[in-house]
Amino acid sequence: MAHIQTIKARQVFDSRGYPTVEAEVSLVGGGWGRFITTSGASVGKKEALELRDGDKAFFLGKGVLRALSHIEQEIARALLGHSFSSIQDLDARLIELDGTPNKSRLGANAILSVSGAFFHALANQQKCPLYASAPHQGPFLMPMPLVNVINGGAHANNGLDIQEFMIVPLGANNFRLAMRMVAETFYALKAILQNKGFSTAVGDEGGFAPTLSRNEDALSLLQEAVFKAGYTPGKDIAFALDVAANELFDETKNSYRLNGELLDGRAMLDWYKDLAARFPICSIEDPFSEDDTKWFSAMTKEMGSATQIVGDDLFVTNTNYIRAGIENHWANAVLVKINQIGTISEAISATKLTMSAGLGAIISHRSGDTEDTTIADLAVLTGAGQIKTGSMSRSERVAKYNRLLRIEEELAGNAQFNKNIGGF
Ligand code: PGA
Ligand code: ZN
Repeated sequence: MAHIQTIKARQVFDSRGYPTVEAEVSLVGGGWGRFITTSGASVGKKEALELRDGDKAFFLGKGVLRALSHIEQEIARALLGHSFSSIQDLDARLIELDGTPNKSRLGANAILSVSGAFFHALANQQKCPLYASAPHQGPFLMPMPLVNVINGGAHANNGLDIQEFMIVPLGANNFRLAMRMVAETFYALKAILQNKGFSTAVGDEGGFAPTLSRNEDALSLLQEAVFKAGYTPGKDIAFALDVAANELFDETKNSYRLNGELLDGRAMLDWYKDLAARFPICSIEDPFSEDDTKWFSAMTKEMGSATQIVGDDLFVTNTNYIRAGIENHWANAVLVKINQIGTISEAISATKLTMSAGLGAIISHRSGDTEDTTIADLAVLTGAGQIKTGSMSRSERVAKYNRLLRIEEELAGNAQFNKNIGGF
């Protein structure tokens, strides 16, 4: 049993300079943990509620003083001096205390920061690395990184519709080599952009944000960069997209805005098929808006045997939606973002449910992130096999990769590397 001694909360800043919640938990016996919550820009409407003060004169309404006071008062009163047997035990108490389905009373940012800090404190008390703090059998699985090297959509102001163009080093045999391949392709892409006179400034997730007229142009640049770095597209390095199609959907016209045109569901799916025939695309996330389950299912049926079809805003890391998605074959993979659901144990349950149904699971950062590296450990702890945590620039992104490099070294011979991305 872990007996909570102190809970502390403070406002710190995320990678966009907006306020975010940090919590610290200490246990009787010396265990101590800290966790910082993250924040999205392309947010699914069914996500757990991030509580912001809304006072426009204070951090443009993005203050988190109410969330902090919920931690220091109500949450502290309910937890201080009490004992919890596990992260599941603590999270159940937090969920019960909040009492709403989407954590809107106390705020998912308040609840998650305490959940995350307790998760770290428990591992620290057991003198155990976070990734090894759950029961585990056999070798650990290091995740394949999906590395976002060109940013568009809500993460840049370059006019590209698709939010993320990622490279996936499928040819690597371990995480260290995977990161070398990714880094060398990133340098090659920078040189190509420079030579062609494009900007090499980066977007929210550290990928380049050149002003390109068509989405296909970004894929052509990736192809060129992979060759320039000395690798073979499709064999050594494949591509992945996060369309974040909520942002492209025009509800009144029931269509998507893409490359300056309006496309209906059928036309979008045909466009994806054409793209996958022209480029080695192993994974496409949120290809349709979160309510457009009909076209998600059609895409999974028509493309799912060779391509990973990922639901992010579709599932919002919520087991209710994931269960429905499994039954109705909406997608064949799930993006897991801790703050979409608001506790560590619910994010772990979502990952386990996904994996037990044979779907792919990707542990993910948010576009507003911090130096906190919990998701790197979570990817190894769950054995999810994939991680999406941005580009090879901006230290809030690279910090997760660096943590995984240390974990792989620590595990030495006791680590395997996942090379299995859907049917690609
Ligand atoms: P977000 O972007 O954090 O802005 O939601 C990440 C994603 O859509 O996967
Ligand atoms: Zn997404």
